[in-house]
Amino acid sequence: MSRWDYVIVGAGSAGCVLADRLSADGAAEVLLIEAGTGNPETRPEVQVPILFPRLFGGDLDWNFSTTPQPGLADRSIPIPRGKAVGGSSVINAQLWTRGHRADYDGWAASGLTGWSHDDLQPYFDRAEQRISLTGLRYPLPVTPAFVNACARLGYAPAAEVQEGYALARATHRDGLRHSSADAYLGPARERPNLTVLADTLVRRVLFEGTRATGVEVEGESGVEVLRAEREVVLSAGSVGSPHLLLLSGVGPAGELSRHGVPVVRDLPSVGRDLTDHLLVPLAFEAMGFQSPGAVASPEQVSQYLRDRSGTLDSIISEALLFLRTREEIEAPDIEVVHLVVPLGEHERPAAHGLALGVILLRPRSRGTITLRSADPHDAPLIDPHYLSDEAGDDLATLVAGIRAAQRILRQPDFAQWLGKPLTDGALSEDVDDIAAYVRATGGSIHHLVSTCRMGTDEHSVVDPEFRVRGLTGLRVVDASAMPSLVRAHTHAPVTMLAERAADVLLQH
Ligand SMILES: Cc1cc2nc3c(=O)[nH]c(=O)nc-3n(C[C@H](O)[C@H](O)[C@H](O)COP(=O)(O)OP(=O)(O)OC[C@H]3O[C@@H](n4cnc5c(N)ncnc54)[C@H](O)[C@@H]3O)c2cc1C
Repeated sequence: MSRWDYVIVGAGSAGCVLADRLSADGAAEVLLIEAGTGNPETRPEVQVPILFPRLFGGDLDWNFSTTPQPGLADRSIPIPRGKAVGGSSVINAQLWTRGHRADYDGWAASGLTGWSHDDLQPYFDRAEQRISLTGLRYPLPVTPAFVNACARLGYAPAAEVQEGYALARATHRDGLRHSSADAYLGPARERPNLTVLADTLVRRVLFEGTRATGVEVEGESGVEVLRAEREVVLSAGSVGSPHLLLLSGVGPAGELSRHGVPVVRDLPSVGRDLTDHLLVPLAFEAMGFQSPGAVASPEQVSQYLRDRSGTLDSIISEALLFLRTREEIEAPDIEVVHLVVPLGEHERPAAHGLALGVILLRPRSRGTITLRSADPHDAPLIDPHYLSDEAGDDLATLVAGIRAAQRILRQPDFAQWLGKPLTDGALSEDVDDIAAYVRATGGSIHHLVSTCRMGTDEHSVVDPEFRVRGLTGLRVVDASAMPSLVRAHTHAPVTMLAERAADVLLQH
C-alpha cells in the first residue's frame, strides 16, 4: 500500500499523540514515518533513568549544533534532538511542567481564541492520563537544602501555579523512563489501520499546485513516494519541520532560489522566530553526598536490578524554582533548576557535585533555521542568536537570575554540601564578571520552538488550526508550531498542543 489518509512525519512527542488519536476509531488509514530506529526501548540507556545523558551524541541523537554564537563568545552550542520512535522524549531529561497561566493567556490575548490557560487544561489532563508521571522517589540529602534555602529567602512552595519552588515530577513508570512512544504507541501499534515506518527519512513534501499530496521518502527500498489522501502532517520538530518545508519549496523565496529549490509558496517566516531557553550552570564539587550515576556501585546496580529502586532511578534535576527578578513583572522570568550532578561546560561525568542551572524563561532574542543546501541529508543551519536583543534585556535578566541563585547557595542550608566551584566566577558578585560568565558557560536546555509559528498575524506560518498558510492538505503539529516559548520545559506543552491538534483534525 502506498496511499494513506494521514501521513504523519516524525514519531516524536507530537507525532506519537497524533498517530494514536487519529487511528483510534479505525476509520482512517494512518502512516507514521520516522527517520530513526523503531525500537529504542531495547537499549538500557533508554530505560534506566540515570543513564539518559549517555544518549547524547549517540545514534539516537541527530547531533546538531548551532552556528558560532557571537553572544556566547563565538561558541557552537550542541543541539541534541531525539532520532527514534518517541523522538526527543526518548533522550530528554524527563521533567514535566505545564507552564504558567500568563503563557497561555498571552496566546489568547494575541488573537488565538480558545488557547487560554483555562481552555488548555483539559488537554494537559488528557495527556497526563496517558503519560505516567512520578514524583521523586529517592531525593538526595542535598535536595532539602535547596528547598529550605528557597523558603528561607521567602519564596513560596507553589508548584501548581509555576511560581515558587517545588520538587520535580518526571515521566517515569515503575522506575523506568516513559517516552511518548511508550505512552501513546504501545497499544496503537497493534491496530491494522496504523503503519509505523521507522528508519525512513522524509526528503520532501510533494504538491500538486498548492495541495500537499504526499511525501518522498528514503528507506531500505530506496527512494519512493507515499501518498496522503487527506493530510500530510509535519511533526518533525523545531529543526526538522522548518527544514522539510524549506526543502519542499515552502519558505522565503529568495533563500529557496539561492539553493535551487523551486518555490511552491513564498512564506518568509518559515524558520524564523526560533526561540530557545538558555541555561547557565553554577557547578560545585560535592561535600558529603554522592551524585547518582557518577560511579554506580555494584550494590546500587544490584539494588536497581532487584526492584528498580535506589539512586539509579534519578532524574538528576530534583527541584525547581520559578522566580521574578523584578517585582513589577506579571510572571516569573527565571527558573533555577537544582541538579545533583556538576552539569555544564565543566561537566565531569565521573565526578560528584551539584549545580544550579539558571534558565532565561522568556528570551527576547530570536534566531533562524535556514538551508545549508538543498540536499535533505545536510543538516540545516541552526542560529538561535542567543543574547542578541538590542536592549540587552536577556543578558540583564540572566545576570539578575544568577545573583538570585547565588543567594540561594549562600544560605546556611547549603554550607555542609557545597565544595569548591568547578567554574571560575560561579560566585562572583561583580556584574561584568557575571555577564562574562554567562557568555563563557551558557548553553541550550533544548527547548527550541516557534520556527513554524502559529498565529493570526500575516507573519505566522500556521493558522490556529495548524494549517500552513496558503496551502491545503498540510499542517505542522509540534514544538515548531508553538506561538511563543512558554515558561516551562516543553515536553508537556508540546504533548498538550498535539492533543488539541488531534481534536481539530478529527473534526474535519
Ligand atoms: C536532550 C533533551 C532534553 C530535554 N529535556 C526536557 C525535559 O526534561 N523536560 C521537557 O519538558 N522537555 C525536555 N526537552 C524538550 C522536549 O523533549 C521537546 O520539546 C519535545 O520532545 C519536542 O517534541 P516534538 O514532537 O516537537 O519533536 P521531537 O520529539 O524531537 O520529534 C521529532 C521527530 O521527527 C523525526 N524527524 C525529523 N526529521 C525527520 C525526517 N526528515 N524524516 C523522518 N523523521 C524525521 C525525528 O527523528 C523525531 O523522532 C528536552 C529535549 C532534549 C533534546
